[in-house]
Amino acid sequence: RYTTAGGSNIKNAQPFDVLYKNMQIALAHNGNIVNVKNIKGILEDSGVVFNTTSDTELILNLFARNIKYGEVFAIKELCQLISGSYALTITLGNKLIGVRDVNGLRPLCIGENSRTYVIASESCALDAIGANFVRDVEPGEIVIIDEDGLHSYKIDTSAERKMCIFEYVYFARPDSVIDGISVYKSRYNAGKIMARENPTDADIVIGVPDSGIPAAIGYAKESGIGYGIGLIKNKYIGRTFIQPSQKMREEGVAIKLNPLRDVLEGKRVIIIDDSIVRGTTSQKLVKIIRDAGAKEVHLRSASPPVISGCYYGVDTPSKEHLIAANMSINEITQAVGADSVGYISLEGLIKATGGSGCDFCKACFDEKYPITIPHNI
Ligand code: SF4
Repeated sequence: RYTTAGGSNIKNAQPFDVLYKNMQIALAHNGNIVNVKNIKGILEDSGVVFNTTSDTELILNLFARNIKYGEVFAIKELCQLISGSYALTITLGNKLIGVRDVNGLRPLCIGENSRTYVIASESCALDAIGANFVRDVEPGEIVIIDEDGLHSYKIDTSAERKMCIFEYVYFARPDSVIDGISVYKSRYNAGKIMARENPTDADIVIGVPDSGIPAAIGYAKESGIGYGIGLIKNKYIGRTFIQPSQKMREEGVAIKLNPLRDVLEGKRVIIIDDSIVRGTTSQKLVKIIRDAGAKEVHLRSASPPVISGCYYGVDTPSKEHLIAANMSINEITQAVGADSVGYISLEGLIKATGGSGCDFCKACFDEKYPITIPHNI
């Protein structure tokens, strides 16, 4: 996984692969455990030694300590202790195990090809290996695959489904379907809704590659303004958002995106990005487009204002660095150097997914965290 906590170094690289009592265990984790400090502290006080700064090692340790009672028991026990988001894949001997946290904050799905079952975070990974999508792993479900097939167990919980809505905005790939919702369609719909909520006169609509493109197409379709490719993405650079430092992220924008002067010169441009987080990327984008000759630049965000940090595995900064938590729309417009700035509403985003508002975690937009955040996180 990309670094959400614990530092970006080789020791924290996944999967964690260990030999425990002659059993080979490999474990990979997408998410973030919020009470890691508390549990780790207790274990360290009793003499347990950790080799890394990753919360994944804690999960592995808790799993191993009860494995003698069977893997289902061991997982249920560890799920009673850890709090936060976790989609886990574990191999244990000839077994493949998948676990999704009780709120289903992070996605996990099951696929099947002619030889075996597979488990992946996103359905696009199944397509890549020629496997058919079988179903999503349910929140609070343990799936064990062995030579007898697929076995499902439920973790006792009254927790509500709270899939991260930001997966649909930015994180997941557009060619994935998560919990029955197409990521592409939800982004396209968000663009259409935004065109109704935030209309403006312009000559062209462009999207910030890659995650802003479907919303830009939707905005163009709904507004009747032509869609164009105004920014070319360097194929050889990864996602700037998941670079481990802010400096690397900012440097990444200029290396990653180059404007198409032929498309932008003399035009009133609407540019759609998936989100506006710190505002530094937006500022750079607006400048790139103006420098390419655009007459006006209107920035639209396909997510509502990000006003609070994420503790569940998306590396958003703390509140003081979030532009929407500290400035009004007018101030943001000035700060990023745009002619106008507009956001989709939270209701609009929920509508775009086609899901029910209660089924999502939306805490970075409304500060209603589904899992209590310990004060010492
Ligand atoms: S706080 Fe935001 S990014 Fe984090 S899980 Fe909730 S919706 Fe997703």
